[in-house]
Amino acid sequence: MPAKKPAATKPAATQSATSRPAVKKSAAKKPAVKKAVAKKTPATQPAAKKTGAAKESGAAKKTGAAKKTGSAKESGSAKKTGAAKPETHAALVRRARKINRELAETYPYAHPELDFENPFQLILATVMSAQTTDLRVNQTTPALFAKYPTPEDLAAANPEEVEELIRPTGFFRAKTRSIMGLAKALTEDFGGEVPGQLEDLVKLPGVGRKTAFVVLGNAFGRPGITVDTHFGRLVRRWKWTEETDPDKVEKAIGELFPKSEWTMLSHHVIFHGRRICHSRKPACGACPIAPLCPAYGEGETDPEKAKKLLKYEKGGFPGQRLKPPQSYLDAGGIPAPPLGATTTTG
Ligand code: SF4
Repeated sequence: MPAKKPAATKPAATQSATSRPAVKKSAAKKPAVKKAVAKKTPATQPAAKKTGAAKESGAAKKTGAAKKTGSAKESGSAKKTGAAKPETHAALVRRARKINRELAETYPYAHPELDFENPFQLILATVMSAQTTDLRVNQTTPALFAKYPTPEDLAAANPEEVEELIRPTGFFRAKTRSIMGLAKALTEDFGGEVPGQLEDLVKLPGVGRKTAFVVLGNAFGRPGITVDTHFGRLVRRWKWTEETDPDKVEKAIGELFPKSEWTMLSHHVIFHGRRICHSRKPACGACPIAPLCPAYGEGETDPEKAKKLLKYEKGGFPGQRLKPPQSYLDAGGIPAPPLGATTTTG
């Protein structure tokens, strides 16, 4: 049974000037949309409804009114013919970029959620984040970083002491072996510095392309796509790709976006996966990109019930935020640039 198409929702507080024409236009089509919903037509675009999520983010400015998209147009023709037309590559690129723009408005404060002050700390934290939450890692790393501030210090550590320090992150013996091996390789092969090149990073023990791109994107300001569990799940839900192998996902998604957008795209998608588009019960009824999502209806579509599924900093999964973090507000709404990123002023 194809999923009902959504009532468009948006975690936006206000409408932006640019969104208004589209909103009005789609609002005018609302009855038709309702009719389509009643018939359970698969790819209809949703009618506008504000959700609690809109108020919570305080960031996005457009409403979730139904908007015309490439897929919307295609679904219109699909309605006429009774058969869904495959999305063209150009339409997919348009839809994907539109989703990213919507997510950028929803999560303008998107950032790596691991705490770090230098590339060495970030690479350790990323390796330790496997099979646990970023919050748990953030609670554990201060003591580790204080005791072993450099790769040389960690490489020479007593493994049992390291195990005790990182025990709360789980798999602590394997992780101790990984981070100590990493520290040793950095010390012996890279002069105690984390290299800033992909080909060097992936040679380090325990460092795959995912970790390498996290480090490149956030500690060196170099574009990278981070294919973690959230990213892979969401891009398949959105039919950006059907690939399951992370390297193939990374390549497929890289072709849809300019390189300069890769790092922030990764943060947006991961933020959305953690807060709204959950693995088992996505909060479709409170989702700002419902009008653009072919998987709308996989989760809860009732706006009130969906709101309860949103993950907040408090009351949701630890460390996961829907509201902008205080540090973002304190900085006047400007996300901190990644370490090493080139910034322009003036
Ligand atoms: S499946 Fe995820 S992205 Fe799609 S409408 Fe539901 S919550 Fe939103």
